[in-house]
Amino acid sequence: MVNWSPNVVEPSDGARIEADENGHLQVPDHPIICYIEGDGIGYDITTASLRIWDAAVKIAYGGSRKIAWLETYAGEKAAAHYDGDYMPDETFEVLKHFRVGIKGPLTTPVGTGFRSLNVTLRQVLDLFACIRPIRWYQNVPSPLKRPQDVNVVIFRENTEDIYAGIEFASGTADNRKLARFLREDLAANHFFEDAGLGIKPISPFGSKRLIRAAIEYAIQRERKSVTLVHKGNIQKYTEGAFQKWGYELAADEYPDQTITWEAMSANGSHPNPAGKILIQDVIADIMFQKMLLRPREHDVIATTNLNGDYLSDALAAQVGGVGIAPGANIGDGIALFEATHGTAPKYTNLDKVNPGSLLFSGVMMLEHIGWFEAASLITQAYEATLLDRIVTYDFARQMDQATEVSTSAFASSIIDRMS
Ligand code: NAD
Repeated sequence: MVNWSPNVVEPSDGARIEADENGHLQVPDHPIICYIEGDGIGYDITTASLRIWDAAVKIAYGGSRKIAWLETYAGEKAAAHYDGDYMPDETFEVLKHFRVGIKGPLTTPVGTGFRSLNVTLRQVLDLFACIRPIRWYQNVPSPLKRPQDVNVVIFRENTEDIYAGIEFASGTADNRKLARFLREDLAANHFFEDAGLGIKPISPFGSKRLIRAAIEYAIQRERKSVTLVHKGNIQKYTEGAFQKWGYELAADEYPDQTITWEAMSANGSHPNPAGKILIQDVIADIMFQKMLLRPREHDVIATTNLNGDYLSDALAAQVGGVGIAPGANIGDGIALFEATHGTAPKYTNLDKVNPGSLLFSGVMMLEHIGWFEAASLITQAYEATLLDRIVTYDFARQMDQATEVSTSAFASSIIDRMS
């Protein structure tokens, strides 16, 4: 037993998830899983989702399995419990110790020097892969003619790129020092006086571990391709290097499981040999167009941090918006699942918003711990609820003949359709 503060109330009926030396999880029947409620609409969506996850596990395993939930604190609730601290060290320790957690959205004040809690969590816990599956469910309002053609899983690098936070504000001494170094030592002169400066680190280590996770996922889930999305035509030694390292990794570590367009053309083996995962690459700006016009050509996507940030929200909008898109942040032996939208403060405690994003993040979490039966029970019940046109306000206002219900009534409708 670790000596936690009184804020950590370890459930007595649960056991810790362990990992073997290869990082594979060993999940007991009553695993302790952490949840962070989140700010704003966090309470409403977490309360609804907890009911659905628990009901699915109970029905799927007849009571032999059960999640032992451990409430963990970040954001405003943390400040209340930890004397004003929005991101207590103990929260990092709890998440590391118990290995699996799920969180609602957290408030980040803009432009006050207050570091995003979400970015901090990802970096401190080294959650290097942000995974976002994006698919359409029947009746979900979409601006596309054929939203059913969108079915991709984005792997976004989570720790490098401009998110590393290496930035120097215009007018500061450090900025002037760096500007002088660039001009005088590196003859890099193409920037105006007093420009704010930022550094974009992209490493072979960071790129390869992300692309490896994407290829492993494609192999395990029998997906068809991995597309490396980059802006290498302009940023040759960062984005371009990401693409180069991706191809190198596939050739070095997965020669039997992967193939490139080039290799296919060279040996005249069109179409793709059965079972081989196609490794391809697309320039980031064209990817947005391709995902609107020919989304079926892409399956698993691996990309750098900023590209992934834009791309995941844009693709989510194609199939229903961030209110439904789920997400996970994965590191070695640790995973934090999260709603991808923000705290939507104007809807706080109105029991009104869509719990879909957090709910499906929980579905990813159940799959992560190997509880696939409970995960598919939720997906099926959700589909059945949507087929009956029972939805929250955000979908109702875009649908004909919809029945608009509250967050909690939406959760009940899903649970009713589970047995
Ligand atoms: P937001 O996602 O909170 O809200 C934008 C709009 O999206 C809302 O007004 C609402 O119309 C809609 N929306 C969001 N979630 C919804 C849901 N579940 N159901 C239905 N509609 C939903 O974005 P914002 O207003 O830019 O940010 C508000 C706060 O959230 C900020 O403090 C920001 O820093 C934070 N934020 C946190 C996260 C996170 O924790 N992962 C992500 C983004 C923003």
